[in-house]
Amino acid sequence: MQLDDLYQEVILDHYRHPRHFAALRDDETLVDEENPLCGDHIRMAAKLAGERLTDLRVQCTGCAICTASASMMAEAVSDQPVSAVRSKIETFLAILRGEQPPQADDLGDLVALRGVAEFPMRVKCATMPWHALSAVLQRLSVAK
Ligand code: ZN
Repeated sequence: MQLDDLYQEVILDHYRHPRHFAALRDDETLVDEENPLCGDHIRMAAKLAGERLTDLRVQCTGCAICTASASMMAEAVSDQPVSAVRSKIETFLAILRGEQPPQADDLGDLVALRGVAEFPMRVKCATMPWHALSAVLQRLSVAK
């Protein structure tokens, strides 16, 4: 498998037109993480409405893998119950760690990122938005 195979059309589409991206103010930013190995930088804001994750916004400057992963993630988890969000995080991370074979219906567009698991240097790029989201959930449930 060539690295080029990673950059499938769906990844490029999310990279060029990221969903749920916005410039975030410092006072609404819940999580701020960097991957110095690649230069990826991500910030997130979100709210809880009852048990639902709402108003998720992402500010990400990084490589195509990180940006596309953040965009697909935001699309997959927005307005979902927190329990479903947690289970998507677990599923995605298990797939990227190679512990679980990807099922298209688990993740939708996110299966496009499964090939990243073959490239240890890029796994951090794909998983960072998910670790950040996990931290967001933690911040929100503490703040509640
Ligand atoms: Zn990266």
